[in-house]
Amino acid sequence: MKESLGTTGLVLNEPLLWEKGKKGRMGFSLPRRDVDATPLDDSLKGDGPDFPDLGELDVIRHFTRLSTWNFGVDTGMYPLGSCTMKYNPKTNERQAALQGFANAHPLLPVTLSQGTLKMMFDLERFLAEITGLDAVSLQPAAGAHGELTGMLIFYAYHKSKGSTRTKILIPDTAHGTNPASASLCGFKSIPVKSNEQGVLSPEAVEKLMDEDTAGIMVTNPNTLGLFEENIKEVAEIVHAKDGLVYGDGANMNAVMGIVGMGDIGVDVLHLNLHKTFSTPHGGGGPGSGPVCVRKHLEKFLPVPRVVKENDKYVLSENFPESVGKLHAFYGNFGIMVRAYSYIMSMGAELKKASQLAVLNANYMKEKLKGTFHLPYNKPCMHECVFTDKNQSAQKVTTLDMAKRLMDYGFHPPTVYFPLVVQGAIMVEPTETESKEDIDLFIDAFKAIAEEAKENPDVLHESPTKPRSRRMDETAAARKPCLAG
Ligand SMILES: *Cc1c(COP(=O)(O)O)cnc(C)c1O
Repeated sequence: MKESLGTTGLVLNEPLLWEKGKKGRMGFSLPRRDVDATPLDDSLKGDGPDFPDLGELDVIRHFTRLSTWNFGVDTGMYPLGSCTMKYNPKTNERQAALQGFANAHPLLPVTLSQGTLKMMFDLERFLAEITGLDAVSLQPAAGAHGELTGMLIFYAYHKSKGSTRTKILIPDTAHGTNPASASLCGFKSIPVKSNEQGVLSPEAVEKLMDEDTAGIMVTNPNTLGLFEENIKEVAEIVHAKDGLVYGDGANMNAVMGIVGMGDIGVDVLHLNLHKTFSTPHGGGGPGSGPVCVRKHLEKFLPVPRVVKENDKYVLSENFPESVGKLHAFYGNFGIMVRAYSYIMSMGAELKKASQLAVLNANYMKEKLKGTFHLPYNKPCMHECVFTDKNQSAQKVTTLDMAKRLMDYGFHPPTVYFPLVVQGAIMVEPTETESKEDIDLFIDAFKAIAEEAKENPDVLHESPTKPRSRRMDETAAARKPCLAG
């Protein structure tokens, strides 16, 4: 194994707190009693819960050690394609923790919430400008939740015209949440095959688009990391039959300040604030998936909406055609503060962030394309997709190589996704990685390709260094341990 920068060694074993506990240890001291002792009521007596007795240092060490086992963007590069695991500047955390924001109560009257409402109002305007759309709701709590909101808006739009359409076109390069959201809303997903260049062809859409189809859901850039270059023609075909175009904007990190989604024919789009706009994510949330729409769909956005009346911000429920309420109160507020702070601190540099994200992915693609098979050999957006085809003669798979990367100190990229590419390895370096760190990743991945030729067995057994070794994925799926 090739040694590189990073850390190995000093692996601290950590028993359960119950194994560490010793009768009589204490982690706290109570103030001296200044009242008379009163015997406990009998009903309160008993053994109590089975908590271990621990000293303060036992507890501090236990949780501090556990916290260091948690790999994150702050510990190393995390090139997980489709997830935009970029570094989130700490200043945005600091703004979200400001007392006025962190302690704002959602039931306070609007007269006492002018600052928070102004922040939400302005953030909606910023997101409208960034996407090139007209109106925004910050309510949805995740990308998929934004998609569901979008599908409800599709339904409401057709209903307002007196029709109930039943189908949605979804390209085979869409994110998996797209068909799931369409189904949840009662639509039937009709898959559209992409062409040999990995993008939608207008002909394929033309063939499927009819008057029973509510519209199309396009992930753009798509999950192959490619820009849907025929999107304008596709949108025209869909609009000609009075369908709507949904843009999955979770990959907005590639095109901020570069592509106006309204200009390319998108009617409804969600953003993932927790990917593109500086909120640490992974591990289940919370997230934020604002929905942006063109003017004629604004009336369907969820309520309440922040509106400005006589220089005051108010929350209005007065949108009779709204799809209703999709989240308690107004969504995940702390994430909105982070996004606002990020946009304010970046300004026009947002465009540069996207350009660097695209540059870094293309650099990675060019440097690795001799080593790994590249199914679509053309410029990519913010992520690039390889396969394990060149290693198949040695019976080394994508999974083997991804696991081996952990021995080199890297979080593996996304694997076996998108589904249209067999053995996919999907790398998204993001704009926040330096050339030096990207080069380390490239060196590690090249060293692994060498190992695949010379010593494939070590790859089959990898990872060898982390605390947990290769998981038995079959048993994990067949006999899940649900008790924790
Ligand atoms: C991440 C992602 C989603 C889903 O977002 P969640 O916040 O996880 O629900 C949808 N589409 C694309 C393209 C994504 O990358």
